[in-house]
Amino acid sequence: MPPRPLVAGNWKMNGLRASIGQLQAVIAGAGDLPKVELMVCPPATLIASFAAAARGTPVLIGGQNCHALASGAYTGDISAEMLNDAGASAVIVGHSERRHYHHETDADVRAKAEAARRAGLMPIVCVGETRAQREAAHALEVVTTQLMGSLPDGAADFVVAYEPVWAIGTGLTPTPADVAEMHRAIRAHLVARYGAAGQMARSLEGGSVNPKNAAELLAVENVSGALVGGASLRAEDFLMIAGVYR
Ligand code: PEP
Repeated sequence: MPPRPLVAGNWKMNGLRASIGQLQAVIAGAGDLPKVELMVCPPATLIASFAAAARGTPVLIGGQNCHALASGAYTGDISAEMLNDAGASAVIVGHSERRHYHHETDADVRAKAEAARRAGLMPIVCVGETRAQREAAHALEVVTTQLMGSLPDGAADFVVAYEPVWAIGTGLTPTPADVAEMHRAIRAHLVARYGAAGQMARSLEGGSVNPKNAAELLAVENVSGALVGGASLRAEDFLMIAGVYR
């Protein structure tokens, strides 16, 4: 049996307290979508209030990043324990914007994923190649190397999100054949490394997923949901994407 799909919304640095109406609309729509797990990852300022609003509903709240340590003199950083304390149940780690703008390495991402696990959060570990790497036919090799370096050992208690860097926020997406090839390689890595549990770990597609292309992209074998950026800011669009699993 394939894993239960997950559709997670990454709001990035968007959203104010007034945006809670979008979360409430997602919560209202979640009842019609029992086959898919829904998650909203708002900016850190909104996690506690969103988690309070989502408590007792099927909608999960996640963070977008965490520090590897539980506490300390790291001005401006937030630990996985703090996210948990605020009511999050997951955290995105290794997003390409963190890897690029904050120079996060695979080892950093792995330490953050381990921190998430320590704090009782589900890590959503992002990987993906740049346009130049795809054009040089290195996409599979790059992503496999990222998986080797970024995923924690032990249990397969994480979610992988494959997000080609060139597809994020651009409106461009890989072809279904390229999506299939990449998720087949991700699955092969997971099974080789984690055994049967690797078969059940979720592998999300991300990068310009929207209501128009979701049905085609999410139907691809080994794809177990989506990590959605821009289209997650409107509950209606987010629910249409998740509605693929109706
Ligand atoms: C993302 O950054 O996680 C993402 C998927 O962005 P977008 O959907 O806007 O391309």
